Order: sequence, then C-alpha cells, then structure tokens
Amino acid sequence: MSRALKPPRWPLWGALLLLVGALLAVLIFLAAEYEVGRDQAALDQDATTVVGEIRSALLRNVQTLQSLNAFSPTPASWDAPAAELLAQRRELVRLEWRDTDMRVLAQRLSAYRPDVFDLLPRGQALPEVRQACDAAQRLSGPAYSASYFWPKRDGRGLEVMELCLPLSEAGESRGFLIATYSLPAMLAELTDAVTLRGRGLSFVESDGARLAVHSVVPVQRRTLSAHALLDLPGHTLLLQLESPRRALGLFPNVLTGVVGALSLALLAVLYLLARDMRRRQRAEQRAADALAFRKAMEDSLVTGLRARDMSGRITYVNPAFCQMVGLTAEQLVGSGMPAPWWPPELVDEYQQRQAVRLAGQVLPREGYESVFQRSDGTRFPVLIIEAPLIDAQGVQTGYMSAIIDLTEQRRIEELNRASQDKLQATARLATVGEMASLISHELNQPLAAIASYASGTLNLLHQGGGRGEGDSDGDDGVSDDIERAIRRIGEQAERAGRVIRGVADFVRRRDQVREAVEPHLLIEGISTLLTLQAKKRGIRLQVDIAPGTPRVWCDRTMVEQVLLNLARNGMQAMPLGDPGTASGLRVLRIAMAPVMGEAGEPGEGRCARWVRMDVTDHGQGLPPEVAERLFTPFFTTKAEGMGLGLSLCRTVVEQHGGALDFEPAQPRGTRFSFTLPVAEASAARPVETHAF
Ligand code: ADP
Repeated sequence: MSRALKPPRWPLWGALLLLVGALLAVLIFLAAEYEVGRDQAALDQDATTVVGEIRSALLRNVQTLQSLNAFSPTPASWDAPAAELLAQRRELVRLEWRDTDMRVLAQRLSAYRPDVFDLLPRGQALPEVRQACDAAQRLSGPAYSASYFWPKRDGRGLEVMELCLPLSEAGESRGFLIATYSLPAMLAELTDAVTLRGRGLSFVESDGARLAVHSVVPVQRRTLSAHALLDLPGHTLLLQLESPRRALGLFPNVLTGVVGALSLALLAVLYLLARDMRRRQRAEQRAADALAFRKAMEDSLVTGLRARDMSGRITYVNPAFCQMVGLTAEQLVGSGMPAPWWPPELVDEYQQRQAVRLAGQVLPREGYESVFQRSDGTRFPVLIIEAPLIDAQGVQTGYMSAIIDLTEQRRIEELNRASQDKLQATARLATVGEMASLISHELNQPLAAIASYASGTLNLLHQGGGRGEGDSDGDDGVSDDIERAIRRIGEQAERAGRVIRGVADFVRRRDQVREAVEPHLLIEGISTLLTLQAKKRGIRLQVDIAPGTPRVWCDRTMVEQVLLNLARNGMQAMPLGDPGTASGLRVLRIAMAPVMGEAGEPGEGRCARWVRMDVTDHGQGLPPEVAERLFTPFFTTKAEGMGLGLSLCRTVVEQHGGALDFEPAQPRGTRFSFTLPVAEASAARPVETHAF
C-alpha cells in the first residue's frame, strides 16, 4: 500500500509555538505596562499630595509670620519671636522687617544657616525682594518672588525664594515682612518623610534642570517621574517626584506571574496534546499497517471467507468468496436468507441447516460439503468449515466460515478415476488379445491337421470309389454321404481357421499409438495403483530416474501395463513377512537410465539410443524350474494367476523393438529389465530389435 504523502506538520507546530510565544510576550508586556501605569498614577497622586502638603505648610507659615508683627512690635521686641520662629521653621533662612521704603527695620538669620549671606551682601537680593513685594502690594496679600540661586562661601549655593508679606495696621501700610525660604529645606521640612522613602524629590525648571534637590534615585535605576505645579501667589514652582521603576524580572509581579504561569501551563498542555497526538498517529499508523497486512492476507487467500451475524445476515466476505460466487462484496454484504448463492432446488435443505445452526448446535469442525451456485447459474461443490465469531467481550456475534471450492479437486479425482479405468480396460484388452493370439496360434495347427486329414480322407474315398466301380447303388449312396460329410468337416475346419486368423488379425490390428514420452510420466500414470498395492504389503516404492534420461518412443498405455505387471509380480514375490522388515529389503525399486553404447558401437560417446528400465524386487527369487518356463503362456505358480503377464510383457517390449530379460538381484530377489527406444532416434529410423 503506498502511503499518501502528507504535508509536513512541523510548520504548523512551529507557527503555533510562535503564536503562543508572541501571546505570552504581549501578555507579559501588557501586564508590565499595566503595572508601570499603576505605579505612575500612584506617583502622580503622591506628587499632588506632596505639593498639597507644601502649599498648606506655606499657608500655615504665612499665618505664623503674620502673627509676628500682629502686636505692633518694636524692632527690638521683634527679634526674639523671629528667632523662635526661625528655630521652629527650618525651611526659613532669614526674616526681615522692612519699612515701606524697603529699609530693613529688623532682621534675623536662621541659626541653622548662619553662613548664607557670608559671600554676598544681602542687598544683592533686593531685586527679588522688590519683585515679591510689588506682587504682594498688587495682590494685597503675601506673594513670592521667583526662586534664585544664592552662592555661598563654601563654593556651593542655595536656591532660595522670597516671601513678601505686606504689613498694615488700620488700613495703613506699615512695611513688609520678608521671609527667605530655602527650597531644599522646604522639600525636607514640609513633606512627609514616609511618602518619600526611596524616592527622589526636587524642584525643577520647565526644561528639567534641577533647582533644589531633596533626595535622588540612584542613577543606574530606571525611574518613573511625576510632576506637579506648586502654584504660589507671584510664582509657580514645578515639583518633580521620582520613583525607581520596579525591577522587571521575567515575572515582575503577581499579574505577570499569573499570566506567565498560565502561559506555561498552556505550553505544557500543548506539549502533552502534541505528544498524545503523536502517540495517536503512531497507533493509527500501526492500525493502518495491520489493516493493510490483514487485507493483503485476505486478498491473497484462495479460500473464501464469509462472516454472518446471529440473524444469518452477511457481514463480511473476502475477494476469494466474491470470485467464487461471481457477486460483488456490495451485493453480498447485508444479504440474508435465502443466500444469493443457494441453488433454488436446495433452498429448503439449506434453510433447515441454517435453522440448526441458529439453534446453537455445533457444526462439524472438519466441515461439511455443500453445493453453491455462481451468478451465471452454474453449480460447484464446496467444503465449508465454520467457527463461531467471538467479539472482544467474549460474546458470540455470528459465524465465520471458510469455503473451499472443490471443483478442481473433483476434476482431478475424476481424471484419476478415468485413467485408472482406462488402464484396467487396456490391461484386460491386452490380456484378452494375448490370449486370443495364443489360442489362434495353438488352434491353427490342430485345425490345419483336421483340414488335411479331411482332404486325405476324401482322396482315399475317391480312390476307393474308382476301384469299386459297379458296386451296389446302396454303397454309392453311403460313400457320397461320407464324402459330403468329410468335405463339410474340411470346410468347417478352414472356416474355424479363418475365424481364428480373423480374431488374431483383429487383436494385432489394435492401434499402436506411439509417442515420445518422458520417463517419469510412465511412472506417474500408474503411481496411484502401485502406491496402493505397495501400501497394502508394507513395501516401500523407490523410483530412480537417472538425470538426462531421454524421452522414449512408445505406446504409453502398453508400456505402463508392462511396468505395472513387472512391479506387481515383484511385490507379489515379497509377501508380508518375507523378507523380514528388519532386513530393510522391503523395497521395490524401479530404475530408468539411458543405455550408453559400448566401446566400438555406433552409439558410443554420442546420444543414447535406448533407455533401460529395471524393476527389482527382493523376494524369494526364481527357482530354476520356474525360470525355465517363465514366458510360457498360461504358466503360473499362483492360485489366481493366469500366467499371461510376462508373455504379454515380452510381446509388448518386442513390438517396440526392445528386449525383456531377467536376472537374480542382490542380495536376493529378481531384476526384470527391458529396453525401449529413445524418442529422438526412433523418430528418424525404423524400429530395430535390441538385445541385451
Ligand atoms: P502370473 O503373474 O499370472 O502368474 P506371469 O506370467 O506374470 O503370470 O508370471 C508367471 C510366473 O512367474 C508367476 O506365477 C511366478 O511364479 C513367476 N514370477 C514372475 N515374476 C516373478 C518374480 N519377480 N519373482 C518370483 N517369481 C516370479
């Protein structure tokens, strides 16, 4: 069976794995993005919270600062509360009380940052102070200046911002309270440390440049950043909150972990499915192979197979069965009773047989013979062997029958019988012929003698009649009668001679059909009879045909008869118990070999002209008195013998130009031998007698 070419599966599996891989990657990416988005939103929220905290702290500061000048202090009395306030509020670097002309009435520097104005005089910051106070006047409330960098002596510097708080009393301006904020300190003091743990917090410019830094995230880490505006009267600051991005491992968080695990589970299931599928495919392949093997086996069978279910319906037929009955499997499968191959006249009988079978009775194991009908109406004998059909659960589901077509077997039996009949008829005819020719040969002499005695007597009568002329009429009448009678005797003797010759001629005239015969065919023709007789006597038959033995030119049936006679005589000479079985001599050997020419003869070194056939037995042998009379017709030592066998054999062999002879065999028994001409040589030349 040629296996159908299937497209390779690996691209499909590759594509599937690729898709699953891509899906897994997208899922992990989306999960990570989701995580980042969530972190970003939280950070944005925190940034807003931080800004809110700073703003409310600044507002609270404004109120506290307002309370500093609430009770009309003198510059001297202002200093102490200012110092206290600076001690409480670390984000404040300096407090100043200025009059409406911006002259400093009182000032106080934070004890925490005494060195801020060491490098540059405070006056340098006046523009920012004015800017804040202008804004404050405009807004009639506290206002902030833009932040600015204030260098320090240690080479570093500080980003600061001025808050200007207009002071008034009874609607009259009493100057300004200037508070200088340190931006880094604002970040440090006004925010919740817990929120900021591990995060970076700074004020930045719109271009990202940092103005004041409270904390930073390590540079090597990827960060998330959120910005929020600290909208103050007179100035707006941009706050930046940074947070290290969470490390993105293969499974950075629960969600991606779950997605990953699910994907892995999916891959595992896919793998298991693929393995299962492969196993299935292998099993299917094995099943298909087994099926193909079974089908090839069924198709090669010459025995018909037929399965029936329990109701007698056909469930399966093999090609041999279809061929037998001349119907197709489609026509047969599903058909019930009466079956399409039942001859109409036998339907009743078969129905009964079917009923017996369906009643559960066991059918003969060795089978039974039946007659089927082909689709063209011809009948043929079959042998049916049936067995119950048992399924995997051990339940009988029907019957399986093997059907053997006996047509050929019957034909061979018929042929065998016909050839046996023919052989026997020929044997009888040959014996009768031989007998007739012998009888005619034996009777010819007495008949001839009778005829000559009759004619002699007539002559004597004539002579006597001449001498006795003139005798009485009565005497004449008597002698006439005698003469007539004797003439009649002579005539009848001649007639008997003619009849006998006629019979002899008739027997001799028997068609002698000569043909070229393979030596082994001569044995095959009589093998059935020989085997049967040998078996009866417990004798082993041995046939030796020398390689290269040519075909012989002979009347096949007659030569078969000769071989049969000689073999039968040989076997009769070895009755059961003689010689003893232990001696190993209970063998009848038939040998055939070409006779090679002797030195000086024309056949020497060339093709053989004769084939010699030997029939050897190991019987009691021939006593001299028997050997002497062996070929004498009707000589026999057997109670039921006719004594014609050997003389017939000799006649037949001699008619073929050959010779029949015998000699003692070793260690005991007799060997009869005869020769027959080789076919090729005989066809070209006239038959000649060959002697041993
Ligand atoms: P039949 O077999 O009818 O007696 P045959 O002419 O074939 O007539 O044989 C004549 C006799 O020769 C037999 O009765 C038998 O005594 C003897 N004879 C023939 N063949 C053998 C043999 N192979 N061994 C011993 N005796 C034989």
